[in-house]
Amino acid sequence: MKKERRHFFKTISVLGLSSFYTTSLYAKTAKEIVHYQPTPKDGNKCQECLHFIAATNECTTVEGKIDPNGWCTIYFKHPKFKK
Ligand code: SF4
Repeated sequence: MKKERRHFFKTISVLGLSSFYTTSLYAKTAKEIVHYQPTPKDGNKCQECLHFIAATNECTTVEGKIDPNGWCTIYFKHPKFKK
């Protein structure tokens, strides 16, 4: 009984460590969750957003390719575009 318990805890700790090292700490959010749309909303668009990566048309927080004229609910206007 004691040996089985030790084996159980040993297995659990190995599984825990392996999942910790294989899970990305920077997973991005799915477009559906943030209601991404490929068109601007109220004049706001991805190319003016703090999260937009212009060099690759990607976003630091939303997965996949991002249209510079798109928009989503976590849009945050970059300070350099504020007047
Ligand atoms: S509006 Fe949304 S999808 Fe577009 S760059 Fe900003 S956070 Fe990313």
